[in-house]
Amino acid sequence: MAKKTENIIKVRDLQKSYGDNHVIKGVDLDVKRNQVMVIIGPSGSGKSTFLRMLNHLEEPTGGNINIDGHDLNSKETDINKVREKIGMVFQHFNLFNNLNVIDNLTLAPRELGLMSQEEAEKKARQYLKRVGLSDKAEVKVDSLSGGQKQRVAIARSLVMNPDVMLFDEPTSALDPEMVGDVLGVMKDVAKEGMTMLVVTHEMGFAKEVADHVLFFDQGHIIEQGTPEQIFDHPQHKRTQDFLSKVL
Ligand code: ADP
Ligand code: MG
Repeated sequence: MAKKTENIIKVRDLQKSYGDNHVIKGVDLDVKRNQVMVIIGPSGSGKSTFLRMLNHLEEPTGGNINIDGHDLNSKETDINKVREKIGMVFQHFNLFNNLNVIDNLTLAPRELGLMSQEEAEKKARQYLKRVGLSDKAEVKVDSLSGGQKQRVAIARSLVMNPDVMLFDEPTSALDPEMVGDVLGVMKDVAKEGMTMLVVTHEMGFAKEVADHVLFFDQGHIIEQGTPEQIFDHPQHKRTQDFLSKVL
């Protein structure tokens, strides 16, 4: 991408409705390069919708999103180019189950003409090593555990060399014993300076890794601050109620 802006993500008065259902009701947010933001909030509060609008998987019904100087509303913006720089990790992995692991990792960079086969494979093996799955390169995805699949999904995003990574409840579908490995990988990615937005119910991860926590409720950011501010001294009653249920 062209110039490196300090606030890599700028969101202004963002709105989203599905028919009569007004789901995102005027969200403003700046995300700094290298910042790790955790988004918490009750089910149905609009967290996934918000995240999906950031890479244009959902189209806003109002307001503005700017990613690294690119206005997502503008006709000049090549949305596919912007997306190449935004990794997304979903609750249910979204891998190609019938392909082996290495092909899952090399598919996008090859198809988009970003890397040669050799280059893509070299990078893929590098990232598989980083997520602790060097020995799984040649196996079919559907033979992996949920935790392994999620680490493959993270490695697949990293191969694209993203500027930002979005995680939507990456550990919610995993057996408890798999959660730690995935959070460990995410922590490493954060340490290396990735800009991250993470929707999660893992409050331990949020406390340890987040620079900033957002509490979403009914389509608004009700409260935001450092993990200490949000978890230890929440100001808003709705934040207090939510935390009393999940902590
Ligand atoms: P969260 O991730 O916080 O649980 P969501 O963003 O998934 O919340 O959902 C917020 C609201 O938007 C819910 O009322 C949900 O039913 C609605 N919604 C989400 N996606 C769609 C969709 N594709 N079509 C219609 N309604 C949707
Ligand atoms: Mg969700």
